[in-house]
Amino acid sequence: MGERLLRKWILSPMTDPIKIRQRLETVQSLIESGTQLTNLREYLSAIGDMERLAGKLGNQKITPPQLISMSEALKIVAKIKKLEIWNSFLLERINEQLDPLDKICERIENTVVPDPPNSIADGGVIRAGVIPELDELRKLQDDSTTVLKEMEQKLRQETGIEKLRIGFNKVFGYYIEISRAQTKNAPPNLIRKQTLVNSERFITPELKELESKLLAAEERINYIEREYFLTLVAELSIEASKVLNVAIALAKLDILANFAHIAIKKRYTRPQIVDDGVLEIKGGRHPVLEDILGKSAFVPNDLYMDTNEQIIILTGPNMAGKSTYLRQNGLLVLMAQMGSFIPADSAKITPVDRIFTRVGATDYIARGQSTFLVEMLETANILHNATENSLVLLDEIGRGTSTFDGLSIAWAVGEYLHDSKTNRAKTIFATHYHELTQLATYLNRVSNFQVGVRESSGKIVFLHKIVPGGCDDSYGIQVAKLAGVPDIVIGRAKEILEILESGEMPTQNIRKLGGRKGKTERVEGFQVSLFDPEYHPLVLALKEIDLNKLSPLEALNLLSEWKKKWDR
Ligand code: ADP
Repeated sequence: MGERLLRKWILSPMTDPIKIRQRLETVQSLIESGTQLTNLREYLSAIGDMERLAGKLGNQKITPPQLISMSEALKIVAKIKKLEIWNSFLLERINEQLDPLDKICERIENTVVPDPPNSIADGGVIRAGVIPELDELRKLQDDSTTVLKEMEQKLRQETGIEKLRIGFNKVFGYYIEISRAQTKNAPPNLIRKQTLVNSERFITPELKELESKLLAAEERINYIEREYFLTLVAELSIEASKVLNVAIALAKLDILANFAHIAIKKRYTRPQIVDDGVLEIKGGRHPVLEDILGKSAFVPNDLYMDTNEQIIILTGPNMAGKSTYLRQNGLLVLMAQMGSFIPADSAKITPVDRIFTRVGATDYIARGQSTFLVEMLETANILHNATENSLVLLDEIGRGTSTFDGLSIAWAVGEYLHDSKTNRAKTIFATHYHELTQLATYLNRVSNFQVGVRESSGKIVFLHKIVPGGCDDSYGIQVAKLAGVPDIVIGRAKEILEILESGEMPTQNIRKLGGRKGKTERVEGFQVSLFDPEYHPLVLALKEIDLNKLSPLEALNLLSEWKKKWDR
């Protein structure tokens, strides 16, 4: 029940600060209740799916064992009510809703045996002392066993056949069985009924009379039990909605008790719910990854946003932890708005109206939509629907198309979210396009953050720490190396990268790119960003020349050298 309700709470978290605070208050009070919380969780774990049982009762489809588990659950409800935990606004409401339904419980307990068979047709469901006729018939059944035993004994004595026995089968009913060797000693009043390989079976009028009495009794018993049970269920089904109400209260209590339990176990803290637009998380952790990696291996990170700190451009190489940070912050806000404590040292959270995400779209590929199209559909949705109270998490938008296309789209999206009057959502923008850090130079609510990496002798170490500033390298080749891509490929990739970065993409003889065989000359120590062509090496070389000291011949020589170098 709790699981089903939890799913609903996750899918529709609260936006009203008062309601969020009420849940958080309740979780806090359960945490403070100490051993009472342990007892509560123990009681709850002994209760089955009461919601389903209430449904079955309502449809009059409930079986005898299910009726018993319902009454047992209701008895636990009575115990839960005796706990000393009812000291928050929500807990008081839940306590009011938790009706142990004593009458229903008593009615079931007094009528149905404690461990009944699954089907009413198997008999033995209704307790003794409930229906006098049923008791009498059962007595007759019990007595008949004695009568049969006496009859068997008497026949053995009369005939002297020690191995004579009275048996029963469904086809012939009761019979007297005598082994073939002894049949000659059978008295003449026995009527032969069936011949088997080693024995003969007989009946007597007396035996048949007893048999019809017994069969009639059994039929009557079945009838009485069934009728009585169905009437009981019909009568109780009127109360099904009351049972359902209790079930719903139990489900809520279950989730809140678990929020409290998990908060203690995993050292979660209570977020402070504010309404000034601030979103501040200190020492935030990813709830799932910290479980997988272990508490000591996970690097906690902070987040600060408000109406002025609206957009964060988060750069860093692949594998640095950008997605993790993005998702972590989304999850923490979601958890807080569900009323749960969160994995962070402290947090101030202004509830958001929606959390929009544009993260990995792999699951759509199978549906025949291109990754890029899906990306753009989601982006369009965000741009149309985000408000200034939303949280937007964009992971690598534009990745699905060519670099320039992707970068331009990402750039324009960033500007739009900043400049828009109505869609000015708090946005975290994770990207490996380090050019996007330029946004912060002319948009005042944009700031740059990067995931720290340490580089030493061509290798990189991921620190997973989010620090201010933009990252100016995508470290793609280093990551490829870390992943075990062969050295020969890494070496060649470096050559190509250098040429591409120098803006020297040849149109012909592309094989020679980077000078493998033909050895074209390479440009050393030079990087161009897409947006500052003034740093082209030719421009730099020109800047360095002192014209006053240059003879016409030297100038001519330089020109010829440059022509050789760059005119390919
Ligand atoms: P990116 O989005 O930058 O490519 P991910 O967020 O996918 O990187 O992170 C890559 C891996 O790095 C994760 O699977 C995780 O193992 C590790 N990682 C990320 N963030 C942290 C962190 N804060 N602490 C420890 N490990 C982390």
